[in-house]
Amino acid sequence: MTARPVNLKAPNGKEYLQPTGIFIDNEFVQATDPKSTITSIDPATELEIVKVQAATPEDVDKAVKAAKRALKSPSWKKLPATDRGKLMAKLADLMEGERELLATIDAWDNGKPYSVALNEDLPEAIGTIRYYSGWADKSHGQTINTTPEKFAYTLRQPIGVVAQIIPWNYPLSMACWKLGPALACGNTVVIKAAEQTPLSILVLGTLIQKAGFPAGVVNIINGFGREAGAAMVQHPLVDKVAFTGSTATASQVMKMAAPTLKNVTLETGGKSPLLVFEDSDLAQAVKWSHYGIMSNQGQICTATSRILVQDSVYDRFVAKFRSQVKEVSKIGDQWDPSTFQGPQVTREQYERILSFVDIGKSEGATLVEGGCAHTGSQGKGFYIAPTVFTDVSSSMRIYKEEVFGPFVVIRTFSTEEEAIDAANDTTYGLGAAVFTKDLERAHRVAAEIEAGMVWINSSQDCDFRIPFGGVKQSGIGRELGEAGLEAYTQVKAVHVNMGNKL
Ligand code: ADP
Repeated sequence: MTARPVNLKAPNGKEYLQPTGIFIDNEFVQATDPKSTITSIDPATELEIVKVQAATPEDVDKAVKAAKRALKSPSWKKLPATDRGKLMAKLADLMEGERELLATIDAWDNGKPYSVALNEDLPEAIGTIRYYSGWADKSHGQTINTTPEKFAYTLRQPIGVVAQIIPWNYPLSMACWKLGPALACGNTVVIKAAEQTPLSILVLGTLIQKAGFPAGVVNIINGFGREAGAAMVQHPLVDKVAFTGSTATASQVMKMAAPTLKNVTLETGGKSPLLVFEDSDLAQAVKWSHYGIMSNQGQICTATSRILVQDSVYDRFVAKFRSQVKEVSKIGDQWDPSTFQGPQVTREQYERILSFVDIGKSEGATLVEGGCAHTGSQGKGFYIAPTVFTDVSSSMRIYKEEVFGPFVVIRTFSTEEEAIDAANDTTYGLGAAVFTKDLERAHRVAAEIEAGMVWINSSQDCDFRIPFGGVKQSGIGRELGEAGLEAYTQVKAVHVNMGNKL
């Protein structure tokens, strides 16, 4: 049965039709259990925006079967790669045309400032689809000579039906990071948004429909992780799982994918270090270290949440960092153009961050900024005052565990060796930043740090042309850039006998 869209008006006055169903075979259908819903909440007002349908395992089965049919259908399988790229470019153009609407929905649903959604998230999401549209007809195999009588060639073929599970911190960008390479390589997809941010991906579904993708190539579901997410990972017709979320869930995903030996790529958490050496441009180090943990409400998997400062400049750095926190962290709702920090995504996340404040205090660290809720613009909302702890030691939980909020710990080091040891003293390995004017040191330290990405004199650079991913417990595989294609193709070797009849 077709699911009816709902007419919504966002606080910034934007009106639109919000689909509420499950997007299977290019149609928005009712979930099998109509009572199973997800309520989207505006984190600034704590008011309900709308309810959408939550997929049951039965719905997941339907979506996966639609993806399987599409995989075999000539309208996708035999579509020339160049035309596949054209469909993706069309989708990017349609998204461009709806930029303001899509940014409105993500700001409303997630709590991020509208200006950030419009000027950072959307260009990244659209850019990723457009970038991978160009790759669709450029992913080639090789010819490999062996003996005069024999040679082989390789075909790069799609992996098949891909289950993609994404988080809530960048709803559209995360969807596009996953969809871009998967579609460029000719796979079909069942993608699940996070239950905290179910809205924008459904509107993306309407654009996928409009762009002219064959039915079943992209299927979009909302649903709870333990129910719908788990059903996707375990489904026997799913060939690959691509997951972004917490390390704990990633570990469960790997376990659930094990019995059917699915190809799995994971992008998980971090406790990324930012190193400030005494010869660095302190003003720049302060600016970037603040941005690296306080932007996006600190809800960034690559957040540089452990700042390590050489002892000779430590006091000056901390003083300047605290001033930066006071000056830049304008807290307010999503719609005020001067807002730097909006509310956290949910009450659960807000409470979790506050519980880490208590943990930090009880562990004996010194709270120098924040450490409490912040009254939002309307006396409601999940706002947290930017929080800074000093006097932390490596055994403390606030130093080791990912908080996922505007919450940072600052420590000293004395030598380069000590800095590298401290940076690597973590089970994670996602990002790392190094501030120094010494060119040799910058590259030496970058090479030594155990992380998938290192920023020199910067933090949080991310570009769809550049590989993104982690080492250690921060993930398996890479997204974005040419490296991102690896996750979505199989290499088939074809051996050719030209005359050796033995
Ligand atoms: P967070 O703690 O940041 O919400 P999660 O790892 O729990 O991160 O969630 C990330 C994504 O994983 C979401 O789409 C969520 O629904 C999904 N998810 C959560 N638990 C499971 C699970 N057991 N199996 C599959 N997906 C899950």
